[in-house]
Amino acid sequence: MQAEKSSKDSGEPPSASPLNALKKFQSAGRGYWRDVSETDWNDWRWQMKHRITTVEQLQKFLPTLTPEELAGAKLANHKLALGITPYFFNLIDPADEHCPIRRQVVPRIEETETAAWEMSDPCGEDSHSPVPGLVHRYPDRVLFLVTDRCAAYCRYCTRSRLVSNASGYDFHPEYDKQINYIAAHPEIRDVLLSGGDPLLLSDDKLENLLRRLRAIPHVEFLRLGSRIPTFLPQRITPELCAMLKKFHPLFLSIHSNHPRELTTEVRDALGRLADAGIPLGNQSVLLKHVNDDADVMKALMQKLLMCRVKPYYIYQCDLIAGSAHLRTSVAKGLAIMEKLRGHTTGYAVPQYVIDAPGGGGKVPVNPEYVLCRNAGRVLIRNFEGKIFEYPEAPDGTPLSQPPKDIEEPELV
Ligand code: SF4
Repeated sequence: MQAEKSSKDSGEPPSASPLNALKKFQSAGRGYWRDVSETDWNDWRWQMKHRITTVEQLQKFLPTLTPEELAGAKLANHKLALGITPYFFNLIDPADEHCPIRRQVVPRIEETETAAWEMSDPCGEDSHSPVPGLVHRYPDRVLFLVTDRCAAYCRYCTRSRLVSNASGYDFHPEYDKQINYIAAHPEIRDVLLSGGDPLLLSDDKLENLLRRLRAIPHVEFLRLGSRIPTFLPQRITPELCAMLKKFHPLFLSIHSNHPRELTTEVRDALGRLADAGIPLGNQSVLLKHVNDDADVMKALMQKLLMCRVKPYYIYQCDLIAGSAHLRTSVAKGLAIMEKLRGHTTGYAVPQYVIDAPGGGGKVPVNPEYVLCRNAGRVLIRNFEGKIFEYPEAPDGTPLSQPPKDIEEPELV
């Protein structure tokens, strides 16, 4: 791996290598808000109230806006709202127009360009909704959309048709109908609360929802999908964690795309969730000039483990309308997976998936490790490219003795 080699070859201390620099935990700092009191800054409601939501604010705080960004920001509130918390804004490098944090939350004019194959609902959620705000696409689990609001808005959002209500989707979840549907379907054993961001609900409102779901005997397992830990770590209060731990087994999937998002504030927030016994996973979206680089992705995955978060999925970016400038190729995704598997801790290797366009669900996509397979043997290669044979009896069971003609591994 290039970053490790350069450190060894140059004789630099390990901390000076690019990989280790990416893995360093740093605070987001205060930036423009240095005069705000400690109490206000750490109050998630203050952060929400002071979000950057207008072109004028964006120009004021980011005077290096490019013409493409300025034009995008002017149009953003007709498509997907502009919203950035002061905390997250501080992660943007104003001197770098290609800053990977900036690309995720600052609108660009390219968002108005829609290719023929792009869709407003690329995962076919609306066509799998038996009641508004509930998606029943897989046999034993449902997606329960609880709100259309997020702490900040990701420019590649799969649900941009409804989140922020900028394009007039007019999302109104009806909790009674959603819960009644789940109660009436005993095959549903797993409920994923998402949105929008479920952690934007007040503690009381969220507790009430979780309690009602827990009261359904066939619901075994609850999950929350949230980007709040990375956009607004101040929301992860001890009170929230104490409330969530009443509803185990409850898992939480966070969403982070670049190692710089994992600050000391985020690490502490994730630590509070982990201490409450909540298993944590991470979902990343593969994004052009954000994380379409094996070193960046490896640093992110290793850093997540340091935050007690298991990397869960890397998503190929959905064919969402206006996202071509942020998508990268499947070939690039496969090349990144190739550089993770075997090259770092297995726990740090997520599953790369494509959400099949139109509503086919998640399909795992892997580099090819099984080279060929027949009734007698399986030919595989390892992460170094060495080839091995695994013998099988004709009925598909492993042989007790390998056949005599098995060959030595060779390099490809
Ligand atoms: S936090 Fe999630 S739902 Fe909200 S804008 Fe980002 S990707 Fe979309």
